Amino acid sequence: MNHSLQGRTALVTGSTSGIGHAIALAFAREGARVMLNGFGPPGQIAAARAEIAAIQGGETPYSDADLSKPEAVRKMCADATAALGQVDILVNNAGIQFTSPVEEFPEEKWDAILAINLSSNFHAIKALLPGMKARNWGRIVNIASAHGLVASPFKAAYVTAKHGVVGLTKTVAIEVARTGITCNAICPGFVRTPLAEAQVPPLARTHGVSEEVALTDYLLAKQPSKRWVEVEEVAGMAVYLCGPNSGAVNGSALSIDGGWTAA
Ligand code: NAD
Repeated sequence: MNHSLQGRTALVTGSTSGIGHAIALAFAREGARVMLNGFGPPGQIAAARAEIAAIQGGETPYSDADLSKPEAVRKMCADATAALGQVDILVNNAGIQFTSPVEEFPEEKWDAILAINLSSNFHAIKALLPGMKARNWGRIVNIASAHGLVASPFKAAYVTAKHGVVGLTKTVAIEVARTGITCNAICPGFVRTPLAEAQVPPLARTHGVSEEVALTDYLLAKQPSKRWVEVEEVAGMAVYLCGPNSGAVNGSALSIDGGWTAA
């Protein structure tokens, strides 16, 4: 266990699996007290809470807030403030995906993706920023995507939302620039999570190739490294952004994408 976040408190949305889970775990290992949020089978949530509790001690606070609902986001923030005493670090990570040609894109999927991937970030920042300003310290990390910087076909809502997250990040960063608060976005390429890995077998079947070829030539076609980004690598960047040496990093959209957006 290291101590770069010793004494800090953190709310990580969508932390019952994937990237959010890895960030919550890394924060706890760095000494922060963490509150979890997200969906999943009760056993998975209990295991995630127990894993964090084993590091930070006590019960791990958890919110089952559905972030598609602004009122639920506000309640989650109030609950986090009550459970942790204050929220020093906010990681807006929860997100969903849906792919379709734009003219067939279901309106309810568009609304849900914009609400969860973008608007929930706004509502959580709005709710927690006053406390950060009062203490003159805070860290906001928004998990955007390479799709916050460049587009791919069939992902109209996701690309729109993630570009919006980068815009929101820059705006908030400028507003807090003279304080001890920073707001940054992390823009991962394809990260090895169960959700992303599940895309490989169908691609292999569709194109009649091995899963290895489906991964490198199709799923990771735009990722020059031809390997997954690992959740621990994203978590490491989040730890850096919330640690003692990152106060001058503000309003950045930091790529971690194996060279995707450099190409
Ligand atoms: P994941 O599906 O493993 O995790 C998503 C988390 O969000 C889960 O905890 C889920 O329960 C939660 N969630 C979903 N809808 C919610 C809602 N309405 N209310 C509350 N929680 C909700 O996905 P992941 O791959 O870990 O993605 C996490 C973030 O990283 C997302 O914002 C995603 O867009 C972004 N991202 C992922 C990748 C990738 O390749 N996996 C790449 C770039 C960006």
